[in-house]
Amino acid sequence: MLQQTQVKTVIPYFKKFTKKYKTIESLSKINQNQILKLWEGLGYYRRARNLLATTKLLVKKYNSKMPNNFVEIKKLPGVGDYTANALLGFIYNKPTIAIDGNVKRIFSRYLNKKVSNINFEKLISLNKKNLFITDRNSDFIEALMEFGALICKPKDPKCSQCCLNKSCRYLKSSKKIKTEKRKKIKIMNYNIFCYVNKKKQIALTKENEISFLKDFNLPLMKKTKNYSVNEDWIFLKNYKNSISNLSLNINLYYKFSNKIPKSYKWHSLNNNKEFIPSFTKRIFNQVSVLF
Ligand code: SF4
Repeated sequence: MLQQTQVKTVIPYFKKFTKKYKTIESLSKINQNQILKLWEGLGYYRRARNLLATTKLLVKKYNSKMPNNFVEIKKLPGVGDYTANALLGFIYNKPTIAIDGNVKRIFSRYLNKKVSNINFEKLISLNKKNLFITDRNSDFIEALMEFGALICKPKDPKCSQCCLNKSCRYLKSSKKIKTEKRKKIKIMNYNIFCYVNKKKQIALTKENEISFLKDFNLPLMKKTKNYSVNEDWIFLKNYKNSISNLSLNINLYYKFSNKIPKSYKWHSLNNNKEFIPSFTKRIFNQVSVLF
């Protein structure tokens, strides 16, 4: 849940999940719509799908227990090197480091070397004796993450308060390396066309070609440059919606109609048992001014 998401946003979701599903077995029994409904609003829905697939696999193949080695743990859906190392450290207290952007920045600054010039696996393996000096490996992983977030921050690191400031090469150097920039925001222009009816319903389909919203319930959505707007559609408004590193510039159109294409289904603007992603809910809010 915490991947790409702030702690304060995650807390209510985490509480809701752990209250409702106390064991891996109980979570493994639900279906995809149920987990997506619980995850609704948290975004990055692939995480929810992977979580469900992982619980099913753990129950079926691993006696409901997380494997305790790198090779097996990486076979779980959505688990890459970072998550595998974090899980092995947190659950089994193994001497590992979960290398994310924060940890890379700490090492890069401490050595005053560009991230791209550091072989992190080699560095950790050569310095095992210096890094894993206690048996509190799970705390060490957590501490590194917090250290990167609170002390050796992306901007304005707090060097005066840092426990490494006596030996840090970045601090001492007159030629400080530059911290790598964040991903660039990509702007995309879309027209969205909503069929609506007098019962306060909107027609949605899962058959869309939008790769970053694949398998989600959406109205008709087309890139502005390759779809000319037919006169039947009425312009409602223009607004912006960000998804990850994409900034979508949206022109929203609607038409009242009782006939909808085959792959579309009517959805109420207010109550939905089915999962509706935040992106589509935002469209609901815009369209609700029509009623
Ligand atoms: S001294 Fe400053 S730059 Fe060096 S590790 Fe500490 S916070 Fe980061």
